[in-house]
Amino acid sequence: MDEIPVKVAVRIRPLLSKEILHNHQVCVRPVPNTQQIIIGKDRVFTFDHVFGKSSTQDDVYSSCIKPLLVSLIEGYNATVFAYGQTGSGKTYTIGGAEEEKGIIPRAIQELFQAISENHNIDFTVKVSYIEVYKEDLRDLLELETNVKDIHIREDEKGNTVIVGAKECQVESADEVMSLLEAGSAVRHTSTTQMNERSSRSHAIFTMSILQQRDANNGATEMISSKFHFVDLAGSERVTKTGNTGERFKESIQINSGLLALGNVISALADPKRKSAHVPYRDAKITRILKDSLGGNANTVMITCISPSTSDFDESLNSLKYSNRAK
Ligand code: ADP
Ligand code: MG
Repeated sequence: MDEIPVKVAVRIRPLLSKEILHNHQVCVRPVPNTQQIIIGKDRVFTFDHVFGKSSTQDDVYSSCIKPLLVSLIEGYNATVFAYGQTGSGKTYTIGGAEEEKGIIPRAIQELFQAISENHNIDFTVKVSYIEVYKEDLRDLLELETNVKDIHIREDEKGNTVIVGAKECQVESADEVMSLLEAGSAVRHTSTTQMNERSSRSHAIFTMSILQQRDANNGATEMISSKFHFVDLAGSERVTKTGNTGERFKESIQINSGLLALGNVISALADPKRKSAHVPYRDAKITRILKDSLGGNANTVMITCISPSTSDFDESLNSLKYSNRAK
């Protein structure tokens, strides 16, 4: 069987009430009974999964994420990204707990369910939550940590380790949810400037699990694996926001992270990739995810799309970007 290293899902959100109020029209929709999306009059793209305006959070979880959780417990790393312009539904999809539960709360719940059903395995679960902003790492679980004290290292087994970032050991789904909420609050609240920042930074929430069980020969078997949930920076173009100066530099840096990620993903999707160079080192985001992107890891990119005609250009760009992953 041919392994597909990165699966791509596209989710088109419904028009928001304010968009309906301003009489926005829809320019992108799923083609019924296919995995295709049509944008404008006649541009068609095909993906692994397509979700339209009436798809639920549970639809997205069940078809895209549940298989990754199953393989996480089997010992494989997993990564899910939400990609798209600001306002397209990334945070809604990855979840936040405030609204209809997204992917993270569902995965957490299911992990602890599995733990409670496996009495012969001793599970240790740890979570971390970091933000990459202008190529600096910030610990969302421990704000006092200086950005200079957080580093990305690769250990002798090729595992990526974030040195200096707090890892909290957790015993229940509720405990994980409160850490997620606290970290997300740090990211989103306070000034509008912070909101600006949150749309320009990547947030990486990671659950690491260690399983220990007695093997037949009396030894202890240990399996470790991790699941990254990534809410990427807004993919909108610099020109549209009309930024200059410092802001402009910021946008370029963020785009370079998304660019590096796109390059890694298309190198992985290349059938000749055994020989091809995968450029993980080009950005912090790809360095962090190196051991969970490609190889034996399972990756899903969920591209979020606004249906509004006023976002046509960004939506088309997002579909093109996601199309490279195949
Ligand atoms: P982003 O994180 O990409 O900037 P958000 O997740 O904040 O975007 O979504 C923008 C707005 O759209 C929010 O008000 C959110 O509640 C709403 N929204 C996004 N996706 C959906 C969806 N699938 N169904 C209903 N509302 C949605
Ligand atoms: Mg968001």
